[in-house]
Amino acid sequence: MRRPSVIADEEARLRALAEYGFADVPQVPDLDPITQLAARIFGVPTAVVNLVDRHNVFFASSVGTDHIESSLAGREISFCAHAITGDDLMVVPDASRDPRFHDNPLVTGPTNFRFYAGVPLRGSGGHNLGAFCIIDTRARPRFTDKDRRQLSEMARLVMDKLELRRLDVAGRVSQERFKNIAATSPDSIICADADGRVTVWNDAAEAMFGYSAAEACGRHIEFIIPDNLRDAINEDRVRVAQGGPSTLVGRTTELQGLRKDGSLFPGELSLSMWREEGAISFGAIIRDVTERRRHEDRLYHLAHHDQLTGLANRSVLRSRVQDEVSAGRPASLVMVDLEGFKEVNDTLGHAVGDALLRETAVRLTNVIRPQDMAARLDSDEFALLLMREDDPLKATGIAESAIAELMRPFELAGQQIHIAASAGVAIYPAQCGSAEELLGNADLALSQAKREGRGRRTLFTSALRDAVVARRNYDLEIRRAVENDELRLFFQPQVDLHDGRLVGAEALIRWEHPERGLLPPAVFLPVLEAGPLAAAVGDWVLDTACAQAAAWRAAGAGALRMGVNLFAAQLGAGDLVDKVQAVLARHELPPGALEIEITENIALDEDNSVLPPLHALKAMGVGIAFDDYGTGFASLSLLKRFPLTRLKIDQSFVRAMCSSPADAAIVQAVTYLGESFGLDVIAEGIETEEQKERLLRKGCTEGQGYLFGRPMPPADFASTFGLGVEVRAA
Ligand code: C2E
Ligand code: MG
Ligand code: MG
Repeated sequence: MRRPSVIADEEARLRALAEYGFADVPQVPDLDPITQLAARIFGVPTAVVNLVDRHNVFFASSVGTDHIESSLAGREISFCAHAITGDDLMVVPDASRDPRFHDNPLVTGPTNFRFYAGVPLRGSGGHNLGAFCIIDTRARPRFTDKDRRQLSEMARLVMDKLELRRLDVAGRVSQERFKNIAATSPDSIICADADGRVTVWNDAAEAMFGYSAAEACGRHIEFIIPDNLRDAINEDRVRVAQGGPSTLVGRTTELQGLRKDGSLFPGELSLSMWREEGAISFGAIIRDVTERRRHEDRLYHLAHHDQLTGLANRSVLRSRVQDEVSAGRPASLVMVDLEGFKEVNDTLGHAVGDALLRETAVRLTNVIRPQDMAARLDSDEFALLLMREDDPLKATGIAESAIAELMRPFELAGQQIHIAASAGVAIYPAQCGSAEELLGNADLALSQAKREGRGRRTLFTSALRDAVVARRNYDLEIRRAVENDELRLFFQPQVDLHDGRLVGAEALIRWEHPERGLLPPAVFLPVLEAGPLAAAVGDWVLDTACAQAAAWRAAGAGALRMGVNLFAAQLGAGDLVDKVQAVLARHELPPGALEIEITENIALDEDNSVLPPLHALKAMGVGIAFDDYGTGFASLSLLKRFPLTRLKIDQSFVRAMCSSPADAAIVQAVTYLGESFGLDVIAEGIETEEQKERLLRKGCTEGQGYLFGRPMPPADFASTFGLGVEVRAA
């Protein structure tokens, strides 16, 4: 650990520090709003005004320091003690990788410091008294120029407040000293005697109020004291003159300063009183805070508004929702999500993306009423808070107008840009009792709207929440099922329709639920597919089915082909080809023994990214069957783009083909399509002899269905087809 370097005129620095009176009262509550604001703006747990004394450091104001023990206040381990040895902001992006700090107890100990940025606090005498710093337990590789400027600006505000304290302390010391300071102070410093007549009027007072010292001295101080303070000051003066305590001294009071020309300025007044040669004297320090107010307003705006659109940000929305709910006032919340924004951003650039978001903010503001609030929550997520509105019809009406507004083309960068939007609507108090719930409900409604497709709006209903709870419970149950080995594979035969000869099998998953018995995939697959276990379960299916195929082939099933349904997640994982290769090798199967089944939902979901692995598999010789063929929207165009070896005619057409000419025609058409594209064709769901006969007549030669065998456990499959052996799951 490197100790901070020694400061050349350390004694002078310590004398300067003593002028602020920290020895008596180290805390400066006036600084708390600034430290809190810093923590909020930078999103850090800790912000501190840290002053560096001879041996120790101490906090004049801080947030998030409760856990820091006093034993860690030693100057030699303090980051700020390093910061004050320089003139400029010190940034430590990751203390654990910084040779000065990596073994510092603040870094290695439970305080777990990682990120530090601190601005030296320079007093008017030019000494660095301490630092204003923000600290995080996460490393932060990026601290932008804007961040630096902002932190430095805030440090200036801190110094302003500290300076006021110094003058106040000085005033309490002696008039002589007070006058000394007065001469150089940027603040107006005015002294008055026991009768209230001005005795000192410094240069700054001349500039601030427009009266020269000659004009001011000897006049009663009242001419610059605003009406609302006059009585309080007079009473205080009388009280102190009689030996009582002062109520004004030592506090800062906001006031409107009155200049000679009649104009007003925002000021801050701090009063001191002292006894000199038996008589009472008064000192007033008045600071023009116009500039500071401007800073503060800007920082406030920064902390509460989205900089790009000027709309309220998430934290403001949250607290407004909280206010409304706490007051029991009805309100509706509409969450709006843009669809297609990312594409605009990626293809047309960030400038166009930003312009689109700004225009979105304008359009949304146009659909709400003056009392309502629009906020930007995330990159392309917005919210509308409708005050005193609990009519679902009106709230959904506004949501619909918002969507309609956003579906209108945007004219940006010389072109027309089309995007879509979805919205979720939730109402308080009809469906919830807290702000959190209202926000959560609107979120759920939005997710539902997005699931339903573009341009939808959904009103929250309790069924949505029930579904989420059920899904969450189910997720846990499925995890348990996988851990407890409750999943099974059943196998359904695929036969040659001419002679009923076994040509293949399809592996179909089941869940042997300890309480609910054997569950078909329709019951649990949607949750499994959407959850984190899909890829792992898919790998298990692939491996188990291939092990079974190898065993049956060895037991006399010859060239039996194994159909395995694929999960989208297996294609998304990026290692499918390697996995298939490894599984085939492990079970010593030729690639042609495996037939992967994909559905349109896989084919469309991932768009083109699924093509390379499928091409690779096909090139290897693995079969690729298109499942449930004919039910999807894009069945024809997919034939052209996808590397397929087989079409599986969906069972709905087979079921209806004997009674419906249209379905019969589809079956015929798919058979032709297969022929013309050089693909094999198999019909699913064959239950009757009649269906089988008709299929044969239409040229379809393979089939699968209850007529030949239901999906069954491996042992049943083996005994039905005389294959003798069963393989347990790997
Ligand atoms: P699929 O791949 O189209 O499987 C055929 C479904 O039709 C099976 O339903 C099967 O039992 C049923 N079926 C077969 N012949 C007949 C018949 O003659 N009549 C009737 N009414 N139905 C018949 P199952 O086993 O309930 O599977 C449903 C779906 O679940 C499958 O449709 C497949 O998409 C999916 N699935 C099953 N196992 C897996 C798996 O291991 N992985 C993945 N990703 N999906 C699976
Ligand atoms: Mg299938
Ligand atoms: Mg199918």
